[in-house]
Amino acid sequence: MPGTWTTDLTHFLDEDGNLAFIPGPAFRLAEYFTAIVALASHPDPDIPSSFRVRCRRRPGRRPCQGMIDCDLDFETEAIGWWCPVCGDNGYIYNWQGSLWDLRGMEERQ
Ligand SMILES: [Zn+2]
Repeated sequence: MPGTWTTDLTHFLDEDGNLAFIPGPAFRLAEYFTAIVALASHPDPDIPSSFRVRCRRRPGRRPCQGMIDCDLDFETEAIGWWCPVCGDNGYIYNWQGSLWDLRGMEERQ
């Protein structure tokens, strides 16, 4: 069973709130976590398929077919996410107010 990721989103952002340029695989990881933030904060209960996030793990060098599920903790506002297929999972903190925070998207339009 893989371990639990604990991610502070601000570690991946530059001073303007954009994804910071991080060379190598860490950048892919940053994109992955921002996609999960958009998924978890999406205001529509019927999430459009373009927002679905595929698991990034490759157990046995084969891409995992799992689609990430996520949940918002109402008390801490931490985003909990997990892959129902391989069990990869984690928490994302300090995502509120980032570019990928889609809460209240409808009101802003
Ligand atoms: Zn998986």
